[in-house]
Amino acid sequence: MRLKDNNLFKQQCFVGGKWVSAADGAVITVTNPADDSVVGAVPKLGRKEIAEAVDAAEKAWAPWKSLRPLQRSEILRRWHSLIAENIDDLAMIMTMEQGKPLAEARGEIMLGMSYITWYAEEGRRVYGETIPSPWAGKQPMTIRQPIGVTAAITPWNFPMSMIARKASPALAAGCPMIIKPASMTPFSALAMAELAARAGVPAGILSVVTGDAAVIGEELCANAKVRKLTFTGSTEVGKKLMAGCASTVKKLSMELGGNAPMIVCADADIKQAVAGTMGCKFRNAGQTCICVNRLIVHENVHDQFVAGLVEQAKAIVTGNGLEAGVTQGPMITSSAFAAMQTLVDDAVAKGAKIALGGKADPKGGRLYLPTVLTDVTPEMRVFREEIFGPIAPVIRFKTEKEALELANDTEYGLASYVYTRDLGSFYRIAEALDYGMVGVNEVALAAGEVPFGGVKFSGLGREGGRQGIEDYMETKYILLGGLAS
Ligand code: ADP
Repeated sequence: MRLKDNNLFKQQCFVGGKWVSAADGAVITVTNPADDSVVGAVPKLGRKEIAEAVDAAEKAWAPWKSLRPLQRSEILRRWHSLIAENIDDLAMIMTMEQGKPLAEARGEIMLGMSYITWYAEEGRRVYGETIPSPWAGKQPMTIRQPIGVTAAITPWNFPMSMIARKASPALAAGCPMIIKPASMTPFSALAMAELAARAGVPAGILSVVTGDAAVIGEELCANAKVRKLTFTGSTEVGKKLMAGCASTVKKLSMELGGNAPMIVCADADIKQAVAGTMGCKFRNAGQTCICVNRLIVHENVHDQFVAGLVEQAKAIVTGNGLEAGVTQGPMITSSAFAAMQTLVDDAVAKGAKIALGGKADPKGGRLYLPTVLTDVTPEMRVFREEIFGPIAPVIRFKTEKEALELANDTEYGLASYVYTRDLGSFYRIAEALDYGMVGVNEVALAAGEVPFGGVKFSGLGREGGRQGIEDYMETKYILLGGLAS
């Protein structure tokens, strides 16, 4: 790996301000999804070592929470600057471990930075309130305080921004955080920890631990010193973690799976709708939780939309994300890659037609061709399941009622989209979509300033915006009595 600063590539965990290996020397090998070459190895820490990381975080908590918010803000702003200065190296590390094109890696890092700069400021605005008193001679009030040691379990599809989105509100609020990144993409997290240390984040306030996910997950759930767990990943694992945290009554945020619909109305600007689909279907090779999963298109514009989408999807350049001009990288694992053909075959067997792709890329590796399926129905797996790959299923509709029924016919409720130029349809549909987020004529939803999150099986809580810091705070009610003169 050619980096400007080789010290950003760490093959040890960062615990209590020190770089450590596993006591027994065990490691996990990390490979590049583009060619399966070895990128490096990270420690496989045991349960006891995770408990020690929690102890170190708890020890570090008191001095961190007693800093002035402005002091924490200054440290977070330095972290932000160091990330900006090292963006080329961070993007290189991310593409090597995750596979996304370098330009997308840079885009993700900039998104992550938007959370850090936002929470550096938002941490200065955690106001309490004085409450108009129902009693004579007594004054009720509230203050907001950091919850304590927090833990984050993060996924491989956004190795940097998910960490920034969780760690920056935690640190700004005055909480330590222990991060367990996905085993496939730990190096971005470790580089972030190195930069946090250089920025002046004190020892124990930001730790990164790697190892067996279930072992680490069990300790973080069962450890009563961890007061909050934030998780981004599958609904299946999220449910396990919620159950695991019941015994310690932890505060939870869960950003889980999605099955995003996009309704394209008869009056939509089809060019815009196609551009939006390109932006949110094929980004990260379709491996994002807010990727559009079902395109629900009015029959009058269906053929025009499909033709436009096929034309643009054909122009996608697949390949190794490090190569110039590549716009779609490989799938993360061989099972994720194999799942694409199973989903396409299931859809075709049930009557779907392939308008583009539908098979592995002849270039080989884990590249799957950008795929457009038409005549999709709710009986098909592509309608029901989170695809997490470059397959765009198109469903035809006649009435708004039918479109909404199709869109809401899922247990998930993360992102949704609608393309329309009619004011009435815009408001009716945005209100009726049973989702945490609605993009209207727009698909790029995330930024530091806005609340990201889902309903139903897509999770709990919001990340980003003024809401995002709430999860790391407790409200304390104080009643001041004896005020009667
Ligand atoms: P994905 O389908 O996106 O890989 P996962 O939910 O499997 O999503 O993984 C998201 C994160 O959860 C990763 O960091 C992974 O290592 C972790 N993880 C997976 N299984 C468990 C588990 N049983 N307990 C705790 N964390 C887990």
